[in-house]
Amino acid sequence: MASNQYDLLIVGAGVSGSALLYLSTKYSDIKHIGVIEKYAAPARVNSLSSNNSQTLHCGDIETNYTLDKALKVQRAARMLRNYAVAQADAHHIIFKFPKMVLGVGEQECSLLRERYETFSPFYPDLKLLDKKSIAKIEPMVSMNGDKFRDDEIIALGSTDEYTAVNFEALSRSFVRQAQIEADKCPDKTVDVHYNENVDHIRIDKDGFIVETQGICYRARALVACAGGHSLKLAHDLGYGHHYSVLPIAGSYYFTPHVLNGKVYTVQNDALPFAAIHGDPDVLVPGQTRFGPTALVLPILERYNFKTLPDFLQVFRFDRRVARVLWDLLRVKDIRNYMFKNMLFEVPLIRKWLFLKEVRKIVPSLKLGDLKFAHRVGGIRPQLIDKDHCKLLMGEAKIDTGIGSIFNMTPSPGGTSCLENAEIDLRTIAKHLGANIDEIALQKDLLVNDNKHDADDFSGIVISGDDAA
Ligand SMILES: Cc1cc2nc3c(=O)[nH]c(=O)nc-3n(C[C@H](O)[C@H](O)[C@H](O)COP(=O)(O)OP(=O)(O)OC[C@H]3O[C@@H](n4cnc5c(N)ncnc54)[C@H](O)[C@@H]3O)c2cc1C
Repeated sequence: MASNQYDLLIVGAGVSGSALLYLSTKYSDIKHIGVIEKYAAPARVNSLSSNNSQTLHCGDIETNYTLDKALKVQRAARMLRNYAVAQADAHHIIFKFPKMVLGVGEQECSLLRERYETFSPFYPDLKLLDKKSIAKIEPMVSMNGDKFRDDEIIALGSTDEYTAVNFEALSRSFVRQAQIEADKCPDKTVDVHYNENVDHIRIDKDGFIVETQGICYRARALVACAGGHSLKLAHDLGYGHHYSVLPIAGSYYFTPHVLNGKVYTVQNDALPFAAIHGDPDVLVPGQTRFGPTALVLPILERYNFKTLPDFLQVFRFDRRVARVLWDLLRVKDIRNYMFKNMLFEVPLIRKWLFLKEVRKIVPSLKLGDLKFAHRVGGIRPQLIDKDHCKLLMGEAKIDTGIGSIFNMTPSPGGTSCLENAEIDLRTIAKHLGANIDEIALQKDLLVNDNKHDADDFSGIVISGDDAA
């Protein structure tokens, strides 16, 4: 096959594109695989270590997930964990911290008790933690000075699980391992083209023609893992016109070290965006990071205002988009929340306002402890489904049915990278008539080697002094 011709061409080398590169190289007989990435290295946008919350979402402490959604995410998280722990440099990729979701006040506490009953059979390590038990894991959450805080609190959490991922390191690992796999097979090629931006895609009789500045690639199958830009490329090809993008930026604040692990808060069901949490940043030792906020911004990449025209191309404002925005703004909780999140960006008042939020987690925090995290936090490309006039949460995929797929990946897109890649690989392998090594895939990534299976659950509720 001549160069610049691929069986599978992937656009974007964030964690989604690099996961697909790895899976297709290692577990399929697809021969010529290319990646086009516009920056000089993998994971410079949302998968960059500082641009997301670094959480391996397993579904147990995310109160905005139903049990069905939680179990789907649990499978995805297990794939990622199985890959990461098998790597020689696992300690740079995946991390163990305690984690919990904190309920404050009677209503949230009873919600967490109910959640525990439903979820614990599927999450054997999950514990119901009272004030004293929380104090053993996160003293600054339970205590206010040298006394226990006054308000009622309870938490659901675990202490011995992988909970954090450096998605940037993971992306680099996928690319490296794909190249190692390709080197083992003389008839396989893997090319990663950096510093090339895909401008235009068109359908050709044998597949697709993909144009960057000056180079023209041909591909029999194509998967765009380019964040919000995927929708632009889909529109370019004539697909997904019923979608628009609402970019939701997330900002963070640093404080001195006050948390040992991840402390999430209970989701307000009226809000479409996840509640803030606090946790250690895997690359900033000695500090705690709180966030993310949720701010609508008219760009596709954070701090890159050159992506404004791209946003305008995919936003495609019309009556149906206006209706979705109006429906959001009509809800008082959402309106107040959006307004508050705008104020979180305004110097002078933002720290004062954010302090009120984080004191729900650490009551003794002071204004002087908070520092706005400059140039930290990416953009979640949330889709608006114009046909059904609603804002979609989670990842979205446009499968054209002709060998091209376009992925848009807000949270938990980092956690789902391998599962998402598995779905795409199955579709693309079918299209190309390629084979997947199911046995190896199952053995390496899908095995559940948890200490306990759901069936082993003992039903013991740990509370008070019993929970360590
Ligand atoms: C504030 C925030 C917090 C988050 N927290 C979490 C979390 O805790 N856990 C979790 O699982 N997920 C989280 N996410 C989501 C997660 O970060 C993303 O789902 C994930 O990084 C998406 O990876 P990706 O590869 O699809 O996209 P990206 O990482 O954005 O990569 C897209 C790539 O495509 C390239 N590209 C774009 N257009 C082109 C083009 N035309 N030509 C060539 N290349 C192109 C870009 O340069 C980039 O490298 C969070 C996201 C945000 C914003």
